[in-house]
Amino acid sequence: MINLTLCEALQKLNNGEISAVELTRAYLDRIEKYGADLNCYITTTPERALADAAASDARRSAGDAKLLDGAPIAMKDLFATRGIRTTAASRMLEKFIPEYESTVSQKLIDAGTVLLGKANLDEFAMGTFSKTSYFGAPINPWQIEKQLTAGGSSGGSTSAVAGGLAIAATGTDTGGSIRFPAAITGMVGMKPTYGLCSRWGCIAFASSLDTPGPITRTVDDAALLLSAMAGHDAKESTSAPNGFSCTTPLQPILGNGKKLRVGVIREFNDVKISDDMKTLFEKRISDLKSLGAELVEVSIPNILDALAAYYIIAPAEASSNLARYDGMRYGLRVEGRDIYDTFKKSRAAGFGDEVKRRMVIGTAVLSSESYDVYFMQAARVRRMIADSFNKAFTECDLILCPSSAGTAMPLNSDLSPLEYYALDLFTVAMNLAGIPACSVPAGLATNGLPLGIQVVGPRFSDEKVLQLAKHIETAAAIDNRPTTIMGK
Ligand code: GLN
Repeated sequence: MINLTLCEALQKLNNGEISAVELTRAYLDRIEKYGADLNCYITTTPERALADAAASDARRSAGDAKLLDGAPIAMKDLFATRGIRTTAASRMLEKFIPEYESTVSQKLIDAGTVLLGKANLDEFAMGTFSKTSYFGAPINPWQIEKQLTAGGSSGGSTSAVAGGLAIAATGTDTGGSIRFPAAITGMVGMKPTYGLCSRWGCIAFASSLDTPGPITRTVDDAALLLSAMAGHDAKESTSAPNGFSCTTPLQPILGNGKKLRVGVIREFNDVKISDDMKTLFEKRISDLKSLGAELVEVSIPNILDALAAYYIIAPAEASSNLARYDGMRYGLRVEGRDIYDTFKKSRAAGFGDEVKRRMVIGTAVLSSESYDVYFMQAARVRRMIADSFNKAFTECDLILCPSSAGTAMPLNSDLSPLEYYALDLFTVAMNLAGIPACSVPAGLATNGLPLGIQVVGPRFSDEKVLQLAKHIETAAAIDNRPTTIMGK
């Protein structure tokens, strides 16, 4: 059963070939068997899952099945879930049990999903390998003996879906945290248009960049999950008025004489990527051309400055957002001599090194001496990048670029903070511009590990992005089923 995609499983559920309880048990068995090896869940919720599944089966027999009724999913542990521990992978929130439900998780409850548990991530979603988690890093299910990273920050979500420990999962993408981990685990990761999925109840990292989205095994699954996650939320001031709905299977956007201009970014030509990435990127482009796509080169002149701008803006917003963890109202509290000492001791004990590093950078760039030279310049670069994308989208319909330079690296790779930051080169610009981008498997590298490429589009072109991603998925045709991956 765990070989079924989300779309296939829903079909079988609707046909009565399988029940939600059976499907959920299959996943709970996998979690029991491989959960500790992969460390992809911080909290599992087997009793809740079985109760959800039973309720789902009852709805279906009453003829009242919802869009995703009976689908067993993992929720990134950044989304607040009522009555279920929500940690953001931080010691600060190790014992935090929210009294409210995030909008995205509520929408998924309303769509009939079954909650398997809360997926591991980088602490407060700050990182690229999920190694900053207080609960230890999740493992990539591919070539598991090599102990490779499942990516970050949504590494628990990608590890769970790739390993067959959830049929689909939620993620959040502030600078690449859905797309990078999806790419190196052979999954589909969609960062929607900023504002399409509500941030309400999703623990904040950098509010102007944070974007919830789906992580799945196929593009159709991503489209379906996104339809349930997206929608206007009156509780969230940056929530877009648009909803998102599309029919699955997605309709082809190429073939039968359809015209589509596909752009590649000139400035990325000079960026060093692996030979495999180069080969697969070219292969997928020639596939699209043979389907009738027209290739054009576009320029995003400041795109190589996106990293510098991102690593000013994101820490600045983080330092402000994380000021609320002071040991007073909730979260870890370590008693000190007086109130300030309690602040200091609680924050010193509650946050890990990377989170502290970001807050120091953030408060520095927001200080009066630095504001104009750092923060304002970064904001200008951000505006220029967004404008360049807008201009590029007058010359082409969608853009393609790699999701990463190479395949998954060993978890114990010894990288400096700046080397980690540099891994986000291909992903951060889309967050700065607020535009949708989907990482889709492009094929397997010579070492047998998956590589992903991104389809990028103008704001609210999410459906088109997914449609083109589906063509790439079909052309690449890799087998990313969990049984092949786990080799058992
Ligand atoms: N790797 C990036 C960072 O560390 C992106 C994180 C994210 O998208 N949440 O900030």
